Amino acid sequence: MIDHAAIQTRIESAARACGRACSSVQLVAVSKTQPDEKIDAALRAGLRVFGENRVQEAQARWGKNHGADRRAMYADLVLHLIGPLQTNKVRDAVSVFDVIETVDRPKLVHALAAEMRAQKRALPCFIQVNTGDEAQKAGCSVADLPGLLALCRDQGLHITGLMCIPPVDADPVPHFQLLHDLAGRYGLPNLSMGMSADFETAIAYGATHVRVGSALFGVRG
Ligand SMILES: *Cc1c(COP(=O)(O)O)cnc(C)c1O
Repeated sequence: MIDHAAIQTRIESAARACGRACSSVQLVAVSKTQPDEKIDAALRAGLRVFGENRVQEAQARWGKNHGADRRAMYADLVLHLIGPLQTNKVRDAVSVFDVIETVDRPKLVHALAAEMRAQKRALPCFIQVNTGDEAQKAGCSVADLPGLLALCRDQGLHITGLMCIPPVDADPVPHFQLLHDLAGRYGLPNLSMGMSADFETAIAYGATHVRVGSALFGVRG
């Protein structure tokens, strides 16, 4: 049902093909909108790193007080927020997630930093960069990135990398290349890029985290 081994093999061959260690690429299994049976099958298959794009859905699936307590069953779970974050959801996001990939504006930096202090949970974060300059897409502009990084440092928000979602139907390569160059310029070790259709290409451009949904779980309902 879940072809974890096949995806993991493809990740490892892509890493090897460009001379990278297999362990340098982390699969983030994108479980949004997938039925619980598939999530539980993935957990039984050994997957522990998951991505969700909505705070409420993540709480329902992974939160402490909701149904099956998957956190208690699998202590080594790591949950990534990969969708846009509203400031009124920051408290819930900091309590349910372990990594926030979508930091993209000053207001959110202030809210996250304050909430992490309040909850004593210093989560590693990524800054999402709107590499395609798309009006409807979240992410900070390339021009705003240095200022946002400085603010994060100032506020004590721990930024470990950059994340992007290239425009649909565009060649992703220039976007992966740009994100790679930006991470190098600002000394950030992690790059979250590549999805079902292009994760092998992303690995060739240095992805450390690939976010794979449909290729792993099947098309979302
Ligand atoms: C849904 C989603 C993915 C996974 O997409 P697939 O094409 O199903 O692999 C990756 N990243 C983000 C931000 C998403 O919202």
